[in-house]
Amino acid sequence: MSELPAWLRGVLVGGTAVLLFALETRQALRAPRREKRSVHTSRNLAIAGLAGVAMMMVETPLLRHVSRHVEARNWGLAPLVTRDPVLRVVVAVLLLDYGLYLWHVLTHRVPVLWRFHMVHHVDLDLDASTALRFHAGEMLLSVPWRLAQACIAGAGPMAVSVWQTLLFVSILFHHSNVRLPIGVERRLRLVIATPRLHGIHHRPEASCLNSNWSSGLSVWDLVHGTHCWKEDAQLATGVPGHLDPTDVTLRRMLALPFQVTAV
Ligand SMILES: [Zn+2]
Repeated sequence: MSELPAWLRGVLVGGTAVLLFALETRQALRAPRREKRSVHTSRNLAIAGLAGVAMMMVETPLLRHVSRHVEARNWGLAPLVTRDPVLRVVVAVLLLDYGLYLWHVLTHRVPVLWRFHMVHHVDLDLDASTALRFHAGEMLLSVPWRLAQACIAGAGPMAVSVWQTLLFVSILFHHSNVRLPIGVERRLRLVIATPRLHGIHHRPEASCLNSNWSSGLSVWDLVHGTHCWKEDAQLATGVPGHLDPTDVTLRRMLALPFQVTAV
């Protein structure tokens, strides 16, 4: 099976970003902001641009190559579960989602990974642009894991492209600063990661930081006992020691993994 068409991926991801940006303006979840929105968004897009170049040069060609091999040779768990090609994609996407949960745990537990993942966490104003704010080094360090995920899950090019598209939509959504009706979010957080739920993961307190690692379905946190739900969305986000706007300039963010003592 080939990949999802690039135009469809673009429409889904781009449409989600535009919609969330508009909703953040109309119905903010966390207010007031710590930084001017234009400054904050520009910085996050600059960090994201560097990460995007790294991904396009390294991850994209390698993952495409490996996923084609996986499909041609029937590697991985999905072909063992079902012979139906559509169900294979579904199973592989679920396994990729679980693999990313495990990777996210590692980025908090392994000191060298945390140095890079912290660049994502020190953001003082969580919004959809935070979803893109990953240090290029973290993206490069994740490539071997990503390739192993595809091999173990049995993810061919279609499964990888479906997962990447859903993941992109999901991370934009659950990092967004959009206020949903509390009754809706109470139910929705039992199925997928939501803005309030993931906002808890971005709080400075260790008990919050070590919860809500799911990036797609929230079932992984529920089964591992790491699901934490609090309805007060107004508490600060960030990392202790980096809670002032002067701590989070672009230059400091790019240098951060190479300067700090791992927590
Ligand atoms: Zn995290």
